[in-house]
Amino acid sequence: MVKASNMEEVFDFINYWDSVRRELDFDIDGVVIKVNEYNLQQELGFTSKNPRWAISYKFKAERVETFLEAISYQVGRTDSVTPVANLTPVLLAGTTVKRASIHNAEIMAELDLRLGDMVFVEKGGEIIPKIVGVNILKRPADSQSLSFIKKCPECGTALIRKDGEANHYCPNEYHCPPQIKGRLEHFIGRKMKDINAGEATVAALYDMGLVRDVADLVFLTKDQVMRLEGFREKSAGNLVESIQQSKNRPFDKLLFSLEIRYVGETVARKLAQHFRMMDKLMVATESELVEVENIGESIAKSVVAFSQDLSNLQMIDRLKAAGLKMEMEASDEIINRLNGKSFVVSGKFSIDREKLEEIITLNGGVNVSAISSKTDFVLAGDNMGPAKLSKAEKLGIQIISEEEFWQLIQ
Ligand SMILES: [Zn+2]
Repeated sequence: MVKASNMEEVFDFINYWDSVRRELDFDIDGVVIKVNEYNLQQELGFTSKNPRWAISYKFKAERVETFLEAISYQVGRTDSVTPVANLTPVLLAGTTVKRASIHNAEIMAELDLRLGDMVFVEKGGEIIPKIVGVNILKRPADSQSLSFIKKCPECGTALIRKDGEANHYCPNEYHCPPQIKGRLEHFIGRKMKDINAGEATVAALYDMGLVRDVADLVFLTKDQVMRLEGFREKSAGNLVESIQQSKNRPFDKLLFSLEIRYVGETVARKLAQHFRMMDKLMVATESELVEVENIGESIAKSVVAFSQDLSNLQMIDRLKAAGLKMEMEASDEIINRLNGKSFVVSGKFSIDREKLEEIITLNGGVNVSAISSKTDFVLAGDNMGPAKLSKAEKLGIQIISEEEFWQLIQ
């Protein structure tokens, strides 16, 4: 900290640190300038968020120039394909940079990147540096514009780009290796990652040919896991044991863990409640699926695409044989207590009204905003308006207290 008596001294300070920051053991991205006189601080006051008497000055991001050698493409754990620039190694902000993300085809076209270009690279807030421009003066005369690849570099499937979206996707979701790995990780879930079942383990299991789908995961033996680097008898046993726990998953959770596109936790529950068992869901047609409440065309299409893939059906047969739950059980019914009943929630409660409405949805009920003859229940809290109350009474709707509501879903 330095006390400056005029603007010139402030800039001297900024320039000094902008040059010596490269020699520091840690990264700094700017300095803070404060008015130190208390009276002036009072006079300047605050904006809605920050004091007016303190401001941070950000150093200009460091920029270097290097040679664009090639562009490669990465298929993500989901399905999007990202172009990556391979650069002649260059020192930038203390680290050697060889690669830079280009994000998507739109950005690639905007920059009009060509092989052999000298490009400007900056390290902004993100860890991965990015290309911010091309030095046109140094562009070779015979260079040609690059176009985005047409086929998935991992599985060879023709890529698609949805209307209005910048990203390209590989639609071969059930057979494209990085996407399979992503799905395996999803099945394993967050909890198991604590016991060394993360990305690297899944990738190793896949690359060694031990696991091709989630059914293989369930049939994995301790001996197989011990073939992986870093696993011993105990850790391998723990991994197998926790994968076996997936047999306790209720049907709707199992459905969610299969990561069918657009089938998140809520949709999985809706489908499980409606179709009751996997066999029925797997033969459901698109028109049967869209009849289910909140299930739209894209979800329906995606479920049908899943069930028409023979390898998925084989996988499900093997999961069934392994004893995973393929239908709703009586104990799962608790979540369906309110079975489509409509609620108007009004007044003050012991918990937030939003939370209460969420609980209604989770239990299979429907929230509506206005009282009508179709309303099943009015959930009346403290200070509920007398007009609403008398309307509910007039229509003969059942009015329940918060306490009665808790009993209803118990
Ligand atoms: Zn692919």
